Amino acid sequence: MLHGPEDLRVEAVADPQPGPGDVLVRVEAATTCGTDVKMWRRGHPILGPYPARFGHETAGRRADTGERVLVGDSVACGRCAPCAAGRPQICRAPRWVLGGFAEAIAAPAEALHPLPDGLEPAGAAMAEPLAAAVHALDRAPRRELAPDAGVLGGGPMGQMLAALLVAEGRTVTLADPHPERRTQAEALGAMSAERVRDCDVVFEAVGHPDAWRAAVDACAPGGTVVFVGGCATGTDAALPTRPLHYDELDLRGAFHHSPAEVDRALALLAEGSVDWRSLAAGPIGLDDLPAALAEAGGPARKWVVVP
Ligand SMILES: [Zn+2]
Ligand SMILES: [Zn+2]
Repeated sequence: MLHGPEDLRVEAVADPQPGPGDVLVRVEAATTCGTDVKMWRRGHPILGPYPARFGHETAGRRADTGERVLVGDSVACGRCAPCAAGRPQICRAPRWVLGGFAEAIAAPAEALHPLPDGLEPAGAAMAEPLAAAVHALDRAPRRELAPDAGVLGGGPMGQMLAALLVAEGRTVTLADPHPERRTQAEALGAMSAERVRDCDVVFEAVGHPDAWRAAVDACAPGGTVVFVGGCATGTDAALPTRPLHYDELDLRGAFHHSPAEVDRALALLAEGSVDWRSLAAGPIGLDDLPAALAEAGGPARKWVVVP
Protein backbone atom coordinates (compact mmCIF):
# COMPACT_ATOMS: atom_id res chain seq x y z
CA MET A 1 0.00 0.00 0.00
CA LEU A 2 1.31 3.41 -0.97
CA HIS A 3 0.62 5.80 1.93
CA GLY A 4 2.24 8.88 0.37
CA PRO A 5 5.34 9.87 -1.60
CA GLU A 6 8.10 7.32 -0.93
CA ASP A 7 5.99 5.74 1.82
CA LEU A 8 5.37 2.22 0.58
CA ARG A 9 4.43 -0.46 3.11
CA VAL A 10 3.87 -4.17 2.79
CA GLU A 11 0.71 -4.95 4.72
CA ALA A 12 -1.53 -7.95 5.25
CA VAL A 13 -4.90 -6.84 3.86
CA ALA A 14 -8.07 -8.60 2.79
CA ASP A 15 -8.37 -9.65 -0.86
CA PRO A 16 -9.81 -6.83 -2.95
CA GLN A 17 -13.57 -7.20 -3.30
CA PRO A 18 -14.61 -7.72 -6.92
CA GLY A 19 -17.47 -5.39 -7.86
CA PRO A 20 -20.16 -6.28 -10.40
CA GLY A 21 -18.48 -7.54 -13.57
CA ASP A 22 -15.12 -7.85 -11.85
CA VAL A 23 -12.93 -10.90 -11.53
CA LEU A 24 -10.38 -11.72 -8.83
CA VAL A 25 -6.99 -12.57 -10.33
CA ARG A 26 -4.19 -14.27 -8.36
CA VAL A 27 -1.04 -12.38 -9.37
CA GLU A 28 1.85 -14.51 -10.65
CA ALA A 29 4.12 -11.67 -11.82
CA ALA A 30 4.01 -7.88 -11.93
CA THR A 31 6.76 -5.85 -13.55
CA THR A 32 8.03 -2.43 -12.50
CA CYS A 33 8.02 0.54 -14.84
CA GLY A 34 8.95 4.21 -14.93
CA THR A 35 5.34 5.12 -14.21
CA ASP A 36 5.56 3.16 -10.95
CA VAL A 37 8.65 5.15 -10.02
CA LYS A 38 6.75 8.40 -10.69
CA MET A 39 3.79 7.14 -8.61
CA TRP A 40 6.02 6.10 -5.75
CA ARG A 41 8.13 9.27 -5.77
CA ARG A 42 5.60 12.05 -6.37
CA GLY A 43 2.13 10.59 -6.87
CA HIS A 44 0.29 10.45 -10.17
CA PRO A 45 -3.03 11.72 -11.61
CA ILE A 46 -4.43 8.20 -12.04
CA LEU A 47 -3.43 6.98 -8.58
CA GLY A 48 -6.38 6.56 -6.20
CA PRO A 49 -6.52 8.30 -2.80
CA TYR A 50 -3.92 7.16 -0.23
CA PRO A 51 -3.48 4.47 0.92
CA ALA A 52 -3.39 3.36 -2.72
CA ARG A 53 -2.68 0.10 -4.48
CA PHE A 54 -0.49 0.30 -7.54
CA GLY A 55 1.35 -1.81 -10.10
CA HIS A 56 -0.15 -1.92 -13.59
CA GLU A 57 1.83 -4.59 -15.50
CA THR A 58 0.22 -7.70 -14.11
CA ALA A 59 -0.18 -11.32 -15.14
CA GLY A 60 -1.84 -14.10 -13.20
CA ARG A 61 -4.66 -16.60 -13.03
CA ARG A 62 -8.39 -15.96 -12.76
CA ALA A 63 -9.59 -17.16 -9.37
CA ASP A 64 -12.89 -18.34 -10.91
CA THR A 65 -11.79 -20.27 -14.03
CA GLY A 66 -8.02 -20.72 -13.55
CA GLU A 67 -7.38 -19.16 -16.95
CA ARG A 68 -3.98 -17.45 -17.37
CA VAL A 69 -4.46 -13.75 -18.13
CA LEU A 70 -2.78 -10.41 -18.53
CA VAL A 71 -4.63 -7.79 -16.47
CA GLY A 72 -4.94 -4.79 -18.77
CA ASP A 73 -4.46 -1.55 -16.87
CA SER A 74 -7.46 0.32 -18.25
CA VAL A 75 -10.92 -0.09 -19.69
CA ALA A 76 -12.21 2.65 -21.98
CA CYS A 77 -15.74 3.97 -21.51
CA GLY A 78 -16.84 3.16 -25.06
CA ARG A 79 -19.08 6.23 -25.19
CA CYS A 80 -16.94 9.37 -25.40
CA ALA A 81 -15.86 11.05 -28.65
CA PRO A 82 -12.37 9.45 -28.82
CA CYS A 83 -13.87 6.02 -28.09
CA ALA A 84 -16.44 6.58 -30.85
CA ALA A 85 -13.58 7.57 -33.17
CA GLY A 86 -11.74 4.30 -32.47
CA ARG A 87 -9.11 5.79 -30.17
CA PRO A 88 -9.78 4.15 -26.78
CA GLN A 89 -6.26 5.01 -25.57
CA ILE A 90 -7.35 8.64 -25.15
CA CYS A 91 -10.77 7.82 -23.66
CA ARG A 92 -12.09 10.74 -21.60
CA ALA A 93 -13.39 8.50 -18.80
CA PRO A 94 -11.28 5.33 -18.56
CA ARG A 95 -11.39 3.03 -15.56
CA TRP A 96 -7.78 2.47 -14.48
CA VAL A 97 -6.91 -0.92 -13.06
CA LEU A 98 -4.06 -0.63 -10.55
CA GLY A 99 -2.91 -2.96 -7.80
CA GLY A 100 -0.67 -5.57 -9.39
CA PHE A 101 1.88 -5.36 -6.56
CA ALA A 102 -0.22 -7.66 -4.41
CA GLU A 103 -1.15 -11.32 -4.16
CA ALA A 104 -4.50 -10.61 -5.78
CA ILE A 105 -6.16 -7.91 -7.86
CA ALA A 106 -9.81 -7.32 -8.72
CA ALA A 107 -10.22 -6.31 -12.36
CA PRO A 108 -13.11 -5.77 -14.74
CA ALA A 109 -13.54 -8.84 -16.98
CA GLU A 110 -13.10 -6.60 -20.06
CA ALA A 111 -9.56 -5.76 -18.89
CA LEU A 112 -8.41 -9.39 -19.06
CA HIS A 113 -6.46 -10.80 -22.01
CA PRO A 114 -5.92 -14.57 -22.29
CA LEU A 115 -2.24 -15.50 -22.54
CA PRO A 116 -0.78 -17.30 -25.53
CA ASP A 117 0.51 -20.79 -24.68
CA GLY A 118 4.08 -20.92 -23.45
CA LEU A 119 4.40 -17.26 -22.45
CA GLU A 120 5.62 -16.99 -18.86
CA PRO A 121 3.85 -14.60 -16.46
CA ALA A 122 6.84 -12.21 -16.29
CA GLY A 123 6.96 -11.93 -20.09
CA ALA A 124 3.19 -11.55 -20.27
CA ALA A 125 3.25 -8.65 -17.79
CA MET A 126 5.57 -6.80 -20.18
CA ALA A 127 2.87 -6.84 -22.85
CA GLU A 128 1.49 -3.71 -21.18
CA PRO A 129 4.49 -1.46 -21.94
CA LEU A 130 5.19 -3.25 -25.22
CA ALA A 131 1.64 -2.43 -26.32
CA ALA A 132 2.43 1.25 -25.75
CA ALA A 133 5.51 0.84 -27.96
CA VAL A 134 3.39 -0.90 -30.62
CA HIS A 135 1.00 2.05 -30.44
CA ALA A 136 3.85 4.59 -30.74
CA LEU A 137 5.03 2.91 -33.96
CA ASP A 138 1.48 3.08 -35.24
CA ARG A 139 1.62 6.86 -34.73
CA ALA A 140 4.75 7.12 -36.93
CA PRO A 141 5.07 7.02 -40.73
CA ARG A 142 5.60 3.49 -42.04
CA ARG A 143 9.06 2.17 -42.79
CA GLU A 144 9.08 3.04 -46.52
CA LEU A 145 8.52 6.71 -45.67
CA ALA A 146 10.80 6.86 -42.64
CA PRO A 147 13.62 4.28 -42.87
CA ASP A 148 16.00 6.12 -40.50
CA ALA A 149 14.66 6.11 -36.96
CA GLY A 150 16.08 7.70 -33.83
CA VAL A 151 15.13 6.81 -30.26
CA LEU A 152 15.95 9.20 -27.43
CA GLY A 153 16.20 7.37 -24.13
CA GLY A 154 17.48 3.85 -23.49
CA GLY A 155 15.18 2.85 -20.65
CA PRO A 156 12.85 -0.13 -21.07
CA MET A 157 10.48 1.84 -23.33
CA GLY A 158 13.33 3.06 -25.56
CA GLN A 159 14.72 -0.47 -25.80
CA MET A 160 11.29 -1.86 -26.72
CA LEU A 161 10.82 0.82 -29.39
CA ALA A 162 14.27 0.03 -30.79
CA ALA A 163 13.50 -3.70 -30.89
CA LEU A 164 10.25 -3.14 -32.80
CA LEU A 165 11.86 -0.68 -35.24
CA VAL A 166 14.77 -3.05 -35.93
CA ALA A 167 12.27 -5.88 -36.52
CA GLU A 168 10.57 -3.69 -39.15
CA GLY A 169 13.88 -3.33 -40.97
CA ARG A 170 14.52 0.31 -40.12
CA THR A 171 17.95 1.74 -39.42
CA VAL A 172 17.78 2.63 -35.73
CA THR A 173 20.01 4.83 -33.61
CA LEU A 174 19.33 5.00 -29.88
CA ALA A 175 20.76 7.85 -27.84
CA ASP A 176 21.36 7.61 -24.11
CA PRO A 177 24.09 9.00 -21.84
CA HIS A 178 24.46 5.60 -20.06
CA PRO A 179 26.96 3.38 -21.90
CA GLU A 180 25.36 0.18 -20.57
CA ARG A 181 22.03 1.17 -22.12
CA ARG A 182 23.73 1.90 -25.44
CA THR A 183 25.28 -1.57 -25.27
CA GLN A 184 21.82 -3.08 -24.71
CA ALA A 185 20.51 -1.27 -27.79
CA GLU A 186 23.41 -2.55 -29.87
CA ALA A 187 22.59 -6.10 -28.76
CA LEU A 188 19.12 -5.56 -30.27
CA GLY A 189 20.62 -4.61 -33.63
CA ALA A 190 20.40 -0.83 -33.23
CA MET A 191 23.26 1.63 -33.44
CA SER A 192 23.88 3.88 -30.47
CA ALA A 193 25.17 7.37 -29.89
CA GLU A 194 25.19 10.14 -27.35
CA ARG A 195 23.13 12.28 -29.77
CA VAL A 196 21.13 11.49 -32.88
CA ARG A 197 20.56 13.76 -35.87
CA ASP A 198 18.78 13.87 -39.22
CA CYS A 199 16.32 11.05 -38.52
CA ASP A 200 13.15 10.61 -40.60
CA VAL A 201 11.32 9.77 -37.40
CA VAL A 202 12.37 10.40 -33.81
CA PHE A 203 10.80 8.75 -30.77
CA GLU A 204 11.18 10.63 -27.49
CA ALA A 205 11.20 8.07 -24.66
CA VAL A 206 12.59 10.10 -21.77
CA GLY A 207 9.70 12.27 -20.56
CA HIS A 208 11.67 15.44 -19.90
CA PRO A 209 11.32 18.82 -21.65
CA ASP A 210 15.03 18.85 -22.56
CA ALA A 211 14.54 15.55 -24.38
CA TRP A 212 11.43 16.89 -26.14
CA ARG A 213 13.57 19.73 -27.46
CA ALA A 214 16.39 17.32 -28.41
CA ALA A 215 13.88 15.16 -30.31
CA VAL A 216 12.87 18.13 -32.46
CA ASP A 217 16.54 18.98 -33.03
CA ALA A 218 17.23 15.36 -34.11
CA CYS A 219 14.50 15.31 -36.77
CA ALA A 220 15.30 15.65 -40.48
CA PRO A 221 13.37 18.24 -42.57
CA GLY A 222 9.90 16.88 -43.32
CA GLY A 223 10.22 14.31 -40.57
CA THR A 224 8.07 13.25 -37.65
CA VAL A 225 8.62 13.38 -33.90
CA VAL A 226 6.62 10.99 -31.72
CA PHE A 227 6.49 11.98 -28.05
CA VAL A 228 6.21 8.78 -26.02
CA GLY A 229 7.54 9.96 -22.65
CA GLY A 230 5.14 11.83 -20.40
CA CYS A 231 6.64 14.78 -18.51
CA ALA A 232 5.67 15.77 -14.97
CA THR A 233 2.19 17.31 -14.67
CA GLY A 234 2.24 21.02 -15.49
CA THR A 235 5.50 20.88 -17.45
CA ASP A 236 5.95 23.09 -20.51
CA ALA A 237 8.53 22.41 -23.20
CA ALA A 238 9.96 25.28 -25.27
CA LEU A 239 10.29 24.06 -28.86
CA PRO A 240 12.07 25.91 -31.70
CA THR A 241 9.58 27.42 -34.13
CA ARG A 242 11.91 27.55 -37.13
CA PRO A 243 12.12 23.80 -37.97
CA LEU A 244 8.46 23.29 -37.07
CA HIS A 245 7.47 25.83 -39.69
CA TYR A 246 10.20 25.91 -42.35
CA ASP A 247 11.02 22.19 -42.20
CA GLU A 248 7.38 21.12 -41.82
CA LEU A 249 8.03 18.80 -38.90
CA ASP A 250 5.10 16.69 -37.75
CA LEU A 251 4.83 16.47 -33.96
CA ARG A 252 2.66 13.65 -32.65
CA GLY A 253 1.81 12.45 -29.17
CA ALA A 254 1.62 8.72 -28.42
CA PHE A 255 -0.15 7.65 -25.27
CA HIS A 256 -1.09 4.24 -23.91
CA HIS A 257 -2.58 1.58 -26.16
CA SER A 258 -5.76 -0.12 -27.34
CA PRO A 259 -6.86 -3.64 -26.32
CA ALA A 260 -5.96 -4.88 -29.82
CA GLU A 261 -2.43 -3.52 -29.35
CA VAL A 262 -2.15 -5.43 -26.06
CA ASP A 263 -3.05 -8.66 -27.87
CA ARG A 264 -0.53 -7.82 -30.60
CA ALA A 265 2.17 -7.30 -27.93
CA LEU A 266 1.31 -10.63 -26.29
CA ALA A 267 1.71 -12.36 -29.66
CA LEU A 268 5.08 -10.66 -30.30
CA LEU A 269 6.33 -11.77 -26.87
CA ALA A 270 5.03 -15.32 -27.29
CA GLU A 271 6.65 -15.78 -30.71
CA GLY A 272 9.95 -14.34 -29.42
CA SER A 273 10.01 -11.28 -31.71
CA VAL A 274 10.76 -9.15 -28.67
CA ASP A 275 13.14 -10.64 -26.09
CA TRP A 276 11.60 -9.75 -22.73
CA ARG A 277 14.27 -11.68 -20.82
CA SER A 278 16.93 -9.13 -21.73
CA LEU A 279 14.96 -6.53 -19.74
CA ALA A 280 13.92 -8.74 -16.83
CA ALA A 281 15.62 -8.53 -13.43
CA GLY A 282 14.80 -10.51 -10.32
CA PRO A 283 12.45 -12.09 -9.42
CA ILE A 284 11.96 -10.13 -6.21
CA GLY A 285 9.29 -10.15 -3.52
CA LEU A 286 7.07 -7.28 -2.39
CA ASP A 287 9.51 -6.42 0.44
CA ASP A 288 12.20 -5.59 -2.14
CA LEU A 289 9.99 -3.23 -4.13
CA PRO A 290 10.94 0.12 -2.50
CA ALA A 291 14.65 -0.49 -3.14
CA ALA A 292 13.92 -1.56 -6.73
CA LEU A 293 11.91 1.63 -7.37
CA ALA A 294 14.64 3.80 -5.81
CA GLU A 295 17.30 2.41 -8.15
CA ALA A 296 18.63 5.08 -10.52
CA GLY A 297 20.68 4.76 -13.68
CA GLY A 298 22.31 1.49 -14.66
CA PRO A 299 21.05 -0.78 -17.40
CA ALA A 300 17.46 -0.68 -18.58
CA ARG A 301 15.61 -3.29 -16.59
CA LYS A 302 12.23 -4.15 -15.26
CA TRP A 303 12.04 -5.90 -11.92
CA VAL A 304 9.80 -8.95 -11.90
CA VAL A 305 7.83 -8.91 -8.66
CA VAL A 306 6.41 -12.28 -7.60
CA PRO A 307 4.14 -11.36 -4.67
ZN1 LIG B 1 4.15 0.61 -17.27
ZN1 LIG C 1 -14.21 6.72 -23.78
